[in-house]
Parts: sequence; C-alpha cells; structure tokens
Amino acid sequence: MSALHKFLFDGQPVRGMLVRLTDSWQEVLRRRAGDAAYPPEVRVLLGEMAAAGVLMQANIKFNGALVLQVHGDGPVKLAVAEVQPDLAFRTTAKVVGTVPAGARLEAMLNVHGQGRCVITLDPQDRLPGQQPYQGVVPLSKGSQGDQREPLQQVAQVLEHYMLQSEQLDTRLVLAADDRVAAGLLIQRLPVDGKGNLAGARNEDRIGLDEAFNRIALLAATLTREELLTLDVDTVLHRLFWEEKLVRFEPQRPRFACRCSRERVRNMLRGLGRDESESLIAERGLVEVGCDFCGLQYHFDAVDVGEMFTPGQNQPPGSAAVQ
Ligand SMILES: [Zn+2]
Repeated sequence: MSALHKFLFDGQPVRGMLVRLTDSWQEVLRRRAGDAAYPPEVRVLLGEMAAAGVLMQANIKFNGALVLQVHGDGPVKLAVAEVQPDLAFRTTAKVVGTVPAGARLEAMLNVHGQGRCVITLDPQDRLPGQQPYQGVVPLSKGSQGDQREPLQQVAQVLEHYMLQSEQLDTRLVLAADDRVAAGLLIQRLPVDGKGNLAGARNEDRIGLDEAFNRIALLAATLTREELLTLDVDTVLHRLFWEEKLVRFEPQRPRFACRCSRERVRNMLRGLGRDESESLIAERGLVEVGCDFCGLQYHFDAVDVGEMFTPGQNQPPGSAAVQ
C-alpha cells in the first residue's frame, strides 16, 4: 500500500520523510499501458516526480495543489506531477520523437539548455484575479552563462529549488521503476524565532548545520535499489541506526484524477460554437481524452447543441480548464 512516513531526528534541527508509491503508481502505469505506454526513461522520470511532489506537498502546509512541471526542449516536451493537499496525485507527459535508451534529464528535456522546472502552488480558495505562486529553476547548475553544468536528475533540480525558495538545506533521493516510485527527503528545520540570537536567518545557516550535514551524508548513501526494494523500517534502520528517530502515523497518498465531464464541457464552451460544431460535422462526435487518467469523454450533436443553447450558457472559461 502506498505510504508517506514522516519522522524527526530527536534533539536535532532535522526532519525527514520517506514515500513509497506502490499500488497508486502501478495504477498510473496501468492506464498508460500497451501502445500508449511512455518510454521506460519517461516512466522513471514521472515516478520520481510523483514521489517528489508528494514529499513536497507533505512538507509545506498549503491548502491547494502543488504542481511540478518540467518544460523540455528535447524529445520530452512536458512532464507534470500534480499533488493535492490530501496527497491525491496524478501525472502526465508529452513525448514527441524518440527518447534515447538510458536517457537522463539532459537527453530527455534539456538538449539545447532551454529546459526548466516550474513549481506552482495553486491555492484552493484562490480569489478571482489572484495569481498562483510560481517558482522557476533551470535544469543546470553553476554560475550564469557558459559555465552552467546540466543536471541529470530531477532530485538535484528540486534540491536547488528548495534551497532557493525556502533557504533550507535539503537532500532528496528519488527512484522509480514499474512497481514502485519512492523518495527520501531530509531537510534542516527552519530557524525558530524564539530562543535565537536576534537576526538569525535561515540563509545564514545554509551548509553550516553539523547535524544536517551528517544526516544528509547518511541519506546520500541510500542506493536506488535499496529505496525501491526495502520497506521503510529497514531503510530507516540501515541509514540512521545511530540516530534517535521520532516517527509519526503514516499518510496514504493515492492516485486520483480531477477531470470531469463538466470540465471538458466548459473547455469546449471556451473553444466556441463554430469550432465545436465543425468537429461534429467532421466526425459526428467530439472526443476528448484526459491526458492524466486516459478517460475518454464523448459529446454528440445533441450535447454540443445544448452546450450553446441560450440559458444554459456560462461565460466561456468560467471554470478551470485542464
Ligand atoms: Zn482524468
């Protein structure tokens, strides 16, 4: 069963989380099986992004969707993982062309150095006109300009993001195959206002906390194979047997899609009457498939007629369009 485990290092300013998506991740892949299946390299990427998204959503107290998007300039144009506050997640990718065997981040998404990762926090109770929060990080590191070194793992990209956005040291280990998508996150706790010297700031502590550095080094020894095959108790004991951990009740991430007939109807309304009717004239049917869960929505001439009948009309784009 898919589970997220949170823990603290007793007496140390460090917290951790370990996620294993099993049944929920297999469900995602089952919906993209056969001819529609993603290449294996893309399945690994999406699994790692799903695990990372669940860790990041559980790590912030935020009432809204956390969306990880990697925009690529290689054969993978887009990879998305979206996680709700209750840890319901979904993923999708847009692949155009051939993904080379064994391709990693650069060969999939950053061939010309233009790839970037966008992290969006979209509040559930967003007011009209209010923009969601967005952070953007490149798929490379180093100083600006020619010196930039392409990153090969999504974990490194997200570590950079968390260092930038939260001013907190973070170590992230991710792995995925066709059975499990898993991740380990270790993070230094934010400086607490009380009991600190005046002016102590999170950014002043980056890289300097001995407890975090020691624990992060231990975390980095976790192999991909161990993360994918060992249960949580074994992983935590193997890595941190000399540390005192405080464990919490596990949470249950699950796969769930947010698409609905109503959302697709609103999208078609946004497309306009002429466009929708020409689709009907062409094929007798409007067919819209959900990129996340694979569900197919069908609208016939009567449905489309009703959509644009006065009195049933809503202003175009009045609901979220996926
Ligand atoms: Zn769907």
